[in-house]
Amino acid sequence: MKAFEISLTHTMAPKWLRLSLAILALCAIMAALVLAYDGKRLFQLVVLALPAGLCLCWPHRHTGWRALQAGIVGIMGFAFIADAAVRCFLLDIYGASPASAMVLTAVANTTPQEVTEFMAMYGASVWLGVLGVFMSLVLLATSLLWWWRQPQPHLKVHGWRLVALSLLLALVALSLLSKPWRHHHPLLFWPGWMADVSKLRAQWGDLGEQRQRLLANAQKQNPIVTPAGPDTLVLVISESINRGHLSLYGYPRDTTPQLMRRQQSEAGRLGVFRHAWSVDASTIAALRHFFYMGQDHSAQQHLLALARAAGYRTWWISNHDDLAIDQEHAQLADSVHMLNKTPGRSGRSLDESTLPVLEAALKDPAPRKLMVLHLLGSHPHYQLRHPDERVPFHNVKDDIYQSLKDQGRSPRVRSLRNDYDSAIHYHDAVVAATLDLTRQHGKKSAWVYFSDHGQEVGHAGEHVGHSAWTADGYRVPVLFWGDAIEGLSSRTFLQPVRTDWLGHSVLRLLGIDWLGHVPQQDVLDPSYQWKPPALGMVTDFNS
Ligand SMILES: [Zn+2]
Repeated sequence: MKAFEISLTHTMAPKWLRLSLAILALCAIMAALVLAYDGKRLFQLVVLALPAGLCLCWPHRHTGWRALQAGIVGIMGFAFIADAAVRCFLLDIYGASPASAMVLTAVANTTPQEVTEFMAMYGASVWLGVLGVFMSLVLLATSLLWWWRQPQPHLKVHGWRLVALSLLLALVALSLLSKPWRHHHPLLFWPGWMADVSKLRAQWGDLGEQRQRLLANAQKQNPIVTPAGPDTLVLVISESINRGHLSLYGYPRDTTPQLMRRQQSEAGRLGVFRHAWSVDASTIAALRHFFYMGQDHSAQQHLLALARAAGYRTWWISNHDDLAIDQEHAQLADSVHMLNKTPGRSGRSLDESTLPVLEAALKDPAPRKLMVLHLLGSHPHYQLRHPDERVPFHNVKDDIYQSLKDQGRSPRVRSLRNDYDSAIHYHDAVVAATLDLTRQHGKKSAWVYFSDHGQEVGHAGEHVGHSAWTADGYRVPVLFWGDAIEGLSSRTFLQPVRTDWLGHSVLRLLGIDWLGHVPQQDVLDPSYQWKPPALGMVTDFNS
């Protein structure tokens, strides 16, 4: 290959000094990254930090260019090391990432004086000392780059070195072009983070007022609990569960052995709605529709506010880290437990973490209790939704696998289908455990389970994930358990139901009498009248 001459220069002497400082500075940046990140994210951060590394390895012979290189290394070194230090600190103190609802909420809610006191309390001097050492290394290397004045011969890059350099540069370009990737660059992440904190502060005033308004609206309804009301209702809201994947609903794979066992042992007390639909394919909208029960904005009623006004003590126990849900719904509860400290899809907090908190709440002596349990269910990425070793459908080549193959689905989709079903299998155990706990602790208890929306897993094509344009994006399970279910005709459960109306039935199970009850939308009422939601992609609501 012909030699490719680039304007980088190669310094000859004293090589050992240049090399050792460059290596030390690179090690400082790398060590900081390794402490704060792991897995794929670590690789992404290393690529984002590469330009600084390349500058260090090839100081330019012209002073102006070298000054620019020194500037790049200094700024990037500071940004990456400070970013890593803050992340390590938060991980150590809270086990949380800076973008988690918990940290954003805490920061938005804190004055500078409180920050100083907090830092002092957690021995910030040690952290600042470590940060200082790391930074000094980078500054030393930067000044060396700046002061190096010897004229240097041109460096000729050719052969495998040229190939390697081109690949590295291509990787750097890719990392900067990809939005989700470059988002992790400290120089982009932190300004965005500060904007999020200010936005949050601005929004809070409104949401605080909104919650007060919802509580006042609920009071005006004069809700009362009839003697038929239970002492405990556990409302389990899951995530991305397509009922078509539950053996309880006839899926050929044995994905829900536990729930099927409960169906046997609780004959007549566990109602399975065969044709249940969400009217939204995403979480925020689905929860909004469920909790507001389709009431118009001026007289808006929230299920939790109504339960509180009627005298229920309320809990919100969540394995989601979602600020919007926290502020709009969870904070209406008397007691809020947000257990997951990693926002987005990449956290691997398992749903079983909610069980001890649920059990503690069930033991609370309050005479009437409502617990909302918000699970991660089988939200992508599916392999993060079950313990590593619990993969009953990993590499399984059964009829389901074969039929996907016959339909021409790619190996990726077939493998994701297996992951999804393994996640459902684990989810089954968690959901059954919530029912067992409810049964054990309540004297007169009720239990409701549904998913916010469905999930597309290669049914209609190659798409896997949330899906607003196929029926499986809306196909959800809905289960009711309790005394109130006994004696209901089996026809009740063959009627189609929609989750934006479900709140009326939940309030009925709670024994709450209120003015806004719409019996035509309450599937437990004899005057229930099914009306299909406007979902063009669902051709048969009895499917
Ligand atoms: Zn969702």
